[in-house]
Amino acid sequence: MLDRLKRYREKRDFSRTREPAGAPVKSGKKLSYVIQKHAARRVHYDFRLEWKGALMSWAVPKGPSENPNDKRLAVHVEDHPVEYGSFEGTIPEGKYGAGTVMVWDRGWWKPHENPDTAMEKGKLGFELHGKRLKGNWALVRLRRRSKKDKDNWLLIKEKDGVAKTEGKLAVDREIDSVASGRDMEEIARGKKIWHSSRPKKEAERPIKKKTRNFLRSGFPPS
Ligand code: MN
Repeated sequence: MLDRLKRYREKRDFSRTREPAGAPVKSGKKLSYVIQKHAARRVHYDFRLEWKGALMSWAVPKGPSENPNDKRLAVHVEDHPVEYGSFEGTIPEGKYGAGTVMVWDRGWWKPHENPDTAMEKGKLGFELHGKRLKGNWALVRLRRRSKKDKDNWLLIKEKDGVAKTEGKLAVDREIDSVASGRDMEEIARGKKIWHSSRPKKEAERPIKKKTRNFLRSGFPPS
């Protein structure tokens, strides 16, 4: 098999980043799907779909929208290892993709047709079964206007029972990790993930300034 992770590895120094070097895996019946929120030079959402042992990937600057009227730019980037989908943490300063990575949504996906043919045609239709995103979606390739253009696609929600034309979008509503419950700041600080097997100690939580002053002065916080 052609090494689909070659470009991924060339961009990274695995002695300097905790991202996985990864290896192609054998895909099972259910194909994984993940979106990682990535606070790099600019915040964007990395949209990843497992296919043939790696994650096809697109960087979506504005993130997905459940509104079929929105067409979200999705820049096709290099394939990532399947295990990358569970990576949450920070990529060191000065390294490729430096910044904080959060697992924003995850689950599985089902292509409407063979993804190889669909990718060649430039239209990939699929179902998402994530915690936050569901229903039918499509990725549609834009025509390149010049050789310098990136491999630009559009991520579009298809009309179905879970499409939304009003109310807050998931990207505005959901700001914590679907994997650890942490927000970007807590991930950046390297705040430990709470495990249910360990009893949560009150003392582990930072005391808010107002509460601290109250404890000292005896007056209730305003
Ligand atoms: Mn990214």
